[in-house]
Amino acid sequence: MSPTRVAVIGSGPSGAYTAQLLTEESESPVEVDVFDRLPTPFGLVRYGVAPDHPRIKSIITSFTDVFEETPGLRFLGNVEIGRDVSLDELRTHYDAVVFAHGAPHDRRLGIPGEDLGGISAVREFVSWYQGHPDQSVDAFLLEGGRRAVVVGVGNVALDAARMLVREVPDLRATDIPEHVVEAFAASTIDEVVVIGRRGPGYAKFTNKEFIELLEVESTDVLIDPADLEFDADQQAFVDADPAARRLVSTFQKAAERGSLGRAKTIRFLFDRTPVEFVGENGAVTGIRLARTSDPTVTETLDVDLALRSVGYLGKPLDGLPFDERSGTIPHLDSRVAEGDDVVPGVYVAGWIKRGPNGVVGTNRKCALETVTSILADVAARGGASTSTSAADVDVVLRERGVEVVDWAAWRAIEAAEIAAGAAVGRERIKLHRREDMLRAASPAPEYAGA
Ligand SMILES: Cc1cc2nc3c(=O)[nH]c(=O)nc-3n(C[C@H](O)[C@H](O)[C@H](O)COP(=O)(O)OP(=O)(O)OC[C@H]3O[C@@H](n4cnc5c(N)ncnc54)[C@H](O)[C@@H]3O)c2cc1C
Repeated sequence: MSPTRVAVIGSGPSGAYTAQLLTEESESPVEVDVFDRLPTPFGLVRYGVAPDHPRIKSIITSFTDVFEETPGLRFLGNVEIGRDVSLDELRTHYDAVVFAHGAPHDRRLGIPGEDLGGISAVREFVSWYQGHPDQSVDAFLLEGGRRAVVVGVGNVALDAARMLVREVPDLRATDIPEHVVEAFAASTIDEVVVIGRRGPGYAKFTNKEFIELLEVESTDVLIDPADLEFDADQQAFVDADPAARRLVSTFQKAAERGSLGRAKTIRFLFDRTPVEFVGENGAVTGIRLARTSDPTVTETLDVDLALRSVGYLGKPLDGLPFDERSGTIPHLDSRVAEGDDVVPGVYVAGWIKRGPNGVVGTNRKCALETVTSILADVAARGGASTSTSAADVDVVLRERGVEVVDWAAWRAIEAAEIAAGAAVGRERIKLHRREDMLRAASPAPEYAGA
């Protein structure tokens, strides 16, 4: 019987888990091609998870083992689905196509002044410090300003706040590019204000992330004790939620600790709704806030840099249904669907399926649901495959001159990153220009004739 062939779009956690589980769970032979628009695998584990979180980044080691040790599994980096290859073409070459391409956009606040210079989505800031090839080197100049605000109280907001106050030796222990280390070294920002729309009891970041902030030695973390006096609703919410109770208890300790006279400050403002950004000569100079519980009480903070951290968002792909409100692809049991009609052979996994929530491991459970549906559909067809072969896909890519980065080529990029680090006494430095990655990759032999 010819193998079932599956294309997985995206090599982030949901794509990697889908590929792994397909090969583990299938009782008949299966071949999986994992595509990524970037020359590098692992999605937001490489370009999202904070560089000073090495323990979580180490999931890369187990994904690497999967790619290296699973027969019939290929990585095809630097191939953008929707640009280099269409969905219709994929459907002729594969029995199943899984969209696991994440949520590459962001929600806006929808308030006046949001397009002023100096205001960005936290996604752009994260991409910049992570050396994402789509982000320009000088996207963030941190010299000259004093105060940054981060609007939002999720883990990503805390990552951004923490990175803004990290000391240079800590940064040099990570793999972020040298131009980013230099920009942070030149930073004059000494206060970061984190703004939450509701009270502290509803904050979305974890206790662990908040404790990590308290451990940054250069920085005071300030919580106003008055914010910890809850109304009945907030108190009931906290009482009912163990995670919120733990966090509030840590907030209380932070409020008691107060200022230790440190060089930098991260200050939390809760119960504040941003109503407007104000600016001069096209650049932000302030943010106007209203008390959420009493909108007649307003204040304006001077601001030099503003990051909105109110959620990542999926984007539509040609030929696929899309739910604009949730920013996800609608599905029935992971099968892409328009209303009650399933699009045959097309599936979803990860953030594009369920929205931007959960930790890396959440994508494993999500991918397992997807794999279960795929294998049920394969079984219902009696295992018959209607796909073409891996060689046919390679011909299409070669004819189009797509410079495919296969697994060996990615390992060459990795080696170049380790060599770049060694040259300046760091463990590793990410290559951040696509052309440098492709040069380090040098084309895989089967694509060399393109
Ligand atoms: C800033 C940040 C920090 C985080 N920190 C943590 C943390 O500390 N701990 C934790 O557990 N979780 C963390 N997460 C969450 C975790 O990263 C996500 O749960 C996970 O990455 C989602 O996986 P995914 O595969 O759905 O999407 P992604 O990881 O985004 O992967 C999608 C992949 O698809 C590719 N792609 C997109 N479009 C195309 C296309 N057209 N063709 C081909 N390929 C395409 C992208 O290049 C990308 O590689 C963090 C997330 C963010 C944003």
